[in-house]
Amino acid sequence: MPDVLAETLYELIVATRILANEKVLDAFGHVSVRHPHDPQRYFIPRHRAPELAEVSDLVELTLDSEPVRPTDFRLYSEKVIHGEIYKARPDVHAVCHHHAHAVLPYAISGQEIVPVFHLGAVIGKVQFWDQRDEFGDTNMLVVKPEEGASLARALGPHWMVLMRRHGATVAGTGLRELTFRTVFGCDNARLQSEAMAHGRVDALSPGEAKLTAAHQSRPPSTNRAWDYWVRQVEKAGLMPAHAAAKAASNTGTRAKSGAKRAPAKSARKKSVTSRRRR
Ligand code: MN
Repeated sequence: MPDVLAETLYELIVATRILANEKVLDAFGHVSVRHPHDPQRYFIPRHRAPELAEVSDLVELTLDSEPVRPTDFRLYSEKVIHGEIYKARPDVHAVCHHHAHAVLPYAISGQEIVPVFHLGAVIGKVQFWDQRDEFGDTNMLVVKPEEGASLARALGPHWMVLMRRHGATVAGTGLRELTFRTVFGCDNARLQSEAMAHGRVDALSPGEAKLTAAHQSRPPSTNRAWDYWVRQVEKAGLMPAHAAAKAASNTGTRAKSGAKRAPAKSARKKSVTSRRRR
């Protein structure tokens, strides 16, 4: 019987490596997945550059973005983006937050991103969110649950939200669909920018966008693209070791812990209060 949890954790790391290799994620940004057996929980890597993330870096969080088990890992400050979207959207099973250069001109200018080619249709109607509207001057990181909840409201029933002067957050019903939408969302933005430089953008009609999005979001497309991106990750020598996934499912979320990652119980407890909120 396939180990669904182990496969899900492994695919989360593969999706993360794909999005790093495709230059969507750089030093920053993150991908998460909802727990396949418990909709009230999700997994996300610890605080580190996405391309370096391993299955052993995954932490299991509640939808309030609190660790299910004490951990000495430093966590992403913007994890509430994920938790609050999972809370608001039971149909969402994977989330990516990124600052890809392809979409940032739109986040900066407020110009709408619209589907300009068939594969770009999967972005749907892209929403805007301005943290300033509700929260005034901040350090522009989405760290408070109410900030995450506000972003989730802006996303509404849609799949992509541009965060003004910051980046974007993309949602999916699963990791492969999310990866497809995230990569082609960036391609679409890049192509739209190039078309705008030509002087005219002829976008898909609403009817075309709807029909095309439904078609391209199906597994024949998302799996084919996934296999292609996996091959690119393999060529780059960036595939995570598959065995790690099996170890993770046997030992909770800590596969192959190095000495540094397995502190004594008392040290671990202490580090929770001092580190998890950063
Ligand atoms: Mn960010």
